[in-house]
Amino acid sequence: MMKLFWGDLHNHCGITYGFGALTNALEAAKGQLDFCAIIGHAMWPDMPERTEDTAFLVDFHNEGFAKLQADWEAIRSKVQEANIPHEFVTFQGYEIHSSEFGDHHVVSPSDELPLVYAASPQQLAEELAPYQVIAVPHHIGYTPGYRGTNWGAFRSDISPIVEVFSKHGCGMSDGSAYPYYHTMGPRDSRNTVFEGLNQGKKFSFAGSTDHHAGYPGSYGDGRVAVWAEEKTRESIWEAIKAGRTYAVTGDKIECQFTLNGACMGSEVEAASDRHLVLDAICADYIDKITVYKNTKPWKVVTGDSIMMETIPSKGSMSRYKIRVEMGWGESKHGYSWEAKASVENGKLLAADSCFRGQSVLAPEPGMSENLDINKLDNRLVEQTGQSLRWTCTTFQNPSTLHPATAAVILEVEGDEASRVVVEANGIKMEFSLAELLTGSRSMHVQPYSSEAILIHRAVPEAAYQVHLEWNDTEKDKDTDVYHAEIRQANHQFAWISPIFVKS
Ligand SMILES: [Zn+2]
Repeated sequence: MMKLFWGDLHNHCGITYGFGALTNALEAAKGQLDFCAIIGHAMWPDMPERTEDTAFLVDFHNEGFAKLQADWEAIRSKVQEANIPHEFVTFQGYEIHSSEFGDHHVVSPSDELPLVYAASPQQLAEELAPYQVIAVPHHIGYTPGYRGTNWGAFRSDISPIVEVFSKHGCGMSDGSAYPYYHTMGPRDSRNTVFEGLNQGKKFSFAGSTDHHAGYPGSYGDGRVAVWAEEKTRESIWEAIKAGRTYAVTGDKIECQFTLNGACMGSEVEAASDRHLVLDAICADYIDKITVYKNTKPWKVVTGDSIMMETIPSKGSMSRYKIRVEMGWGESKHGYSWEAKASVENGKLLAADSCFRGQSVLAPEPGMSENLDINKLDNRLVEQTGQSLRWTCTTFQNPSTLHPATAAVILEVEGDEASRVVVEANGIKMEFSLAELLTGSRSMHVQPYSSEAILIHRAVPEAAYQVHLEWNDTEKDKDTDVYHAEIRQANHQFAWISPIFVKS
């Protein structure tokens, strides 16, 4: 029986040219994830030449690379110590930039992984082969030759997974949500996942934050889901190599996708009758589910159509998801919350956090090291069958379109008379489920420019959980590729890895 585990295989901190202490990064990871790799920037064989214009860029890279080299032994042993089977799993790794082949991070289950230099990601992976490594292409969608991926050089044997979403944006296709707006430039269709699949490349999907201030798993920046036997390095590694992974933006959307019983990442031989099954438990209203065949939409199911087919159950106990989001205000240095949510005349079945770290993507002139930049005390303190207590720190939203809020998601069993009570920083909100099913409710802490709490509209189970089946008898190509995308109403996504059907 496979279990679902959540991780971040690509994130940075102060061990190279990122920010924040390694210890804080590992703490943040443990708070929301089952596994992580901490990645140090290590090399850029074809870095632009140092001129007056490029001096800052070239220097901060070289200083970062040297720092990683100097501390490599110590970093490796801290990462090793944090690996506790069945509690929290770590992997070793580091990153190679490449203008020609695109940036890759190598990930390894070996604590002996040496820091070696190579001219290309492929060459690096070959040199490290005795230690078991994969090289994961990331932010693949950049312009060819400008650190976007290079499908011509792609090899499934060393890259079983590709990072399709991170803080850089989404690399699925040139039409996907979350286009690229980093200083590294725009997204180009030639370097997207769809193009790779159309060229017959075989790989599975992963999300990871590429966080640069030591907050692996930071909500909304990318996470990877893995279907593995157990929470150990060996088991998660086996699952990654087998491609039983998929990408999400942030919400832990639980998905299973099978074809004739074979799971995502599989290669299925000569199937003429193809039975596809998709199960998903989402964290918000489902907006749209698309199953793609050879990167063309093949089946589309909308959230509205799912809801229209459901008869609401009156009076009986049912499940709901309720998101409590906090933040806003104008604190640039952090605002601390102490919060509690309780359920009256109902049960709290499960809870999950959506905590973020402060966001940095690359150093800028004038920035100085701050080891505690993301020591935020974001944590679930206590959970019972009736209530949840948590603490977190939020910041002013960096722009009106970029949230820096925190949230928890409560899964509640109750009926319309059940009540949800939220108490935090001196304010108290109390509503019945019936009322929360009609819409969201917010409240401010202060009279002006204030931090606030938003209890989102309650999501009934029928709107977040789905079981779908289809049959296909048509062979379109020698290898047909099926993958899926789930979009929630809050614009959180899951990109579900392909199943390859050979005939
Ligand atoms: Zn990176």
